[in-house]
Amino acid sequence: MPQVLNYEFNTAAYTGKSTVNTGLFIDGKWVDPIEGGLIEVLNPANGKLITKVGAATAKDVDLAVQAAKKAYRTVWGTRTPGQQRGRILSKLADLIEQNIEEFAALEALNAGKKFEVAKNGDITGAIATYRYYAGWADKIQGKVIETSDLALNYTRHEPFGVCGQIVPWNFPFWIMSWKVAPALATGNTVVLKPSEVTPLTALRFADLLVEAGVPAGVVNIVPGYGSEAGQAITEHNDVSKVSFTGSTLTGRKVMEAAARSNLKAVTLELGGKSPNIIFDDADLEQAVKWAAFGIFSNMGQVCAAGSRIFVQEGIYDAFMKAFTAAARGLGDSIGDPFNPKSNHGPQVSQTQLDRVMGYIEAGKTEGATVAVGGDKHGNEGYYVQPTIFTDCKPSMKIVQEEIFGPVAVVIKFKTEEEVIELANDTVYGLACAVFTENGGRATRVTNALEAGIAYINCINTWAPSLPFSAFKQSGGGTELGEYAISTYTRVKGVHVNLGLRL
Ligand code: NAD
Repeated sequence: MPQVLNYEFNTAAYTGKSTVNTGLFIDGKWVDPIEGGLIEVLNPANGKLITKVGAATAKDVDLAVQAAKKAYRTVWGTRTPGQQRGRILSKLADLIEQNIEEFAALEALNAGKKFEVAKNGDITGAIATYRYYAGWADKIQGKVIETSDLALNYTRHEPFGVCGQIVPWNFPFWIMSWKVAPALATGNTVVLKPSEVTPLTALRFADLLVEAGVPAGVVNIVPGYGSEAGQAITEHNDVSKVSFTGSTLTGRKVMEAAARSNLKAVTLELGGKSPNIIFDDADLEQAVKWAAFGIFSNMGQVCAAGSRIFVQEGIYDAFMKAFTAAARGLGDSIGDPFNPKSNHGPQVSQTQLDRVMGYIEAGKTEGATVAVGGDKHGNEGYYVQPTIFTDCKPSMKIVQEEIFGPVAVVIKFKTEEEVIELANDTVYGLACAVFTENGGRATRVTNALEAGIAYINCINTWAPSLPFSAFKQSGGGTELGEYAISTYTRVKGVHVNLGLRL
């Protein structure tokens, strides 16, 4: 029988208990992985083992897909009308809300997020997403298309059937909601794989599925390694669509596997190296605060992070003075995610710590100047100082590649034309931000930037109703908003003959 983790939180931010099943959730039941593999789940604040969870392999994924296929054909899809699916999604949102602190604590423990941020950002965001799609569930409709009096033509927006969903570790519960909520609203069933690094909130969520009345098999949760469970999902011939969020490298593999198998539909949300452009006429104080939020929040582990900061020459010195002060202030409050006084937690894993430090060393070797930070913090856990590089050249690794850590590169520019060129000089196209008090410039520049999300005088703001889109090698397909309803349905054109005779 799968083990249960009983975790007692006794911290300054939160006191309480969490009970998490550590097996696989398939067909509404907790089971052990067939091959018995286990994944060690660590606390990034100290590197210590929290628990071990089951590691699904291809055999378990196949059981999960078969359960999802059966549930799609027998209980979900059109068999549970939209109104009822909406009620279930609302119930899920309510249940998460009733347990918001427990979910926030699990996320803080496993992903290293500050407890308050996990509560008011990640978990609150997930609740909003389930509520938003609850409202959509009975509004999935096609069109009547007139051609002649002898025909009735209409479209149906039908679910795909079984959707594979693969989630990263940076916003484990929040990003999971971007996938599960629209998939269920539109009548699909789900096989979801959380990241092997952060599976705890997804496993705890499985119990709420039962409580909310989601029928067995409609959502299956299979923690596992990417190269085993992840790949098995992307290669499975009974999975009709796969939605993947993660690195561009893995995104390529997902697309290749889809092409190799049944040509399943693919939605990809991948990496980024997003430009944040500060013009001379920007509100300096606000620009500095948003720039710091844009690159240092979630310890820089944000796909849309404003990691390349372009500052116009007239405001450069003033901006740098305030921006470096902001980074130093954050560096002074590095600490445990459950300490209310700490504002900057650990990177999620040793692998990420090594990766970020590798980039910091590369920046130093390539001749960029460390204006602030540039080192690890402490002897325990995976902490990195908020770091700012100046004197950066476009060809440098730290300017071109996604670091996915609290590392900003700052580049001075002169003209609007020049900065558009520099900002678009990247393989990525996830987000962009522009700070200026000139409305014409703001829209002109954001229109010219090759990115799926544009922020004007803000960065990394979010609402479930707004699309999260990606250009270039940051992905394809759009999540959130009304657009996700389209990406979780396929259109059938129906032709009815009202009297045309041959
Ligand atoms: P990752 O690509 O290593 O892993 C993401 C997920 O894919 C994990 O669940 C992993 O187990 C799985 N996976 C790994 N190999 C696989 C394979 N061969 N087949 C199928 N699945 C496989 O990424 P990560 O390190 O977890 O997350 C960080 C990356 O995610 C960053 O590049 C970041 O920019 C990106 N990201 C993008 C968005 C977005 O919306 N665009 C959001 C968050 C994170």
